[in-house]
Amino acid sequence: GITISGVVRQFGATPVLQGVSLTVEPGEFMALVGPSGCGKTTLMRIIAGIETADAGEIVIGNRTVTRLRPAERDIAMVFQSYALYPHLTVRENIAVPLAMRRLSTPERMPLLGRLLPGTRAKRAAIGEEVVRAAAPLGLAALLDRRPGQLSGGQRQRVALARAIIRRPAAFLMDEPLSNLDAALRVQTRREIVDIHRAAGVATLYVTHDQAEALTMADKVAVMMGGELLQVASPEAIYADPADLRVAGFIGSPR
Ligand code: ATP
Repeated sequence: GITISGVVRQFGATPVLQGVSLTVEPGEFMALVGPSGCGKTTLMRIIAGIETADAGEIVIGNRTVTRLRPAERDIAMVFQSYALYPHLTVRENIAVPLAMRRLSTPERMPLLGRLLPGTRAKRAAIGEEVVRAAAPLGLAALLDRRPGQLSGGQRQRVALARAIIRRPAAFLMDEPLSNLDAALRVQTRREIVDIHRAAGVATLYVTHDQAEALTMADKVAVMMGGELLQVASPEAIYADPADLRVAGFIGSPR
């Protein structure tokens, strides 16, 4: 799971996060919503370790990671601008985290850790994991293409496959669907929830689309002005908002 406690961040004199505490249980899908500028992306970047907090603690799995580098935190991220390697095939792009993990933490990859680097068996094992991650996303027939030969939606799915292949302790997504058209968004929402369920990973999902949050998530966290106003099930947020600000935000069309 993910536990953050008392996270504070200021940019200059402007307080952006004012003591944010939140727990995402293992296997839980939490949507983080709030108006533009309320601090969602800053919080995600702090959890990922690409931004530092002025105060507060971050626990991922059972480890305090507050002072660890992003690569040491056992998280996978899919952000709005997903960077695929243009010169690698889809298959190779998806396999990158497995190849990298071999170098850093062999104990966390039981399958590959047992195999000698560069053996045919090791390559076959990676190949099988790639197919297992790619198939549910409809990428099985596209594995030998390069990113330049894919649609935007297909590229986003490659980014998702690459993120889940490591089986991280936490999955962070920041507006991953915002570049997709309406029909593809709805379809990809369902795929993301399916992936999350299959992986059983604590997922924190930022969106400023209230409908997306209410339909996808087990729980919704409503943030405003750098503070969490309510964390509850979609039903409770909708039927019993904590105050007028939550009611106004959830009830307002985008
Ligand atoms: P959006 O939904 O528009 O993406 P957000 O909720 O993700 O917004 P953040 O990107 O976290 O909001 O930004 C929160 C506030 O912090 C904003 O007022 C933003 O202008 C400010 N901010 C973010 N990064 C910096 C920075 N590096 N320096 C100064 N101010 C920043």
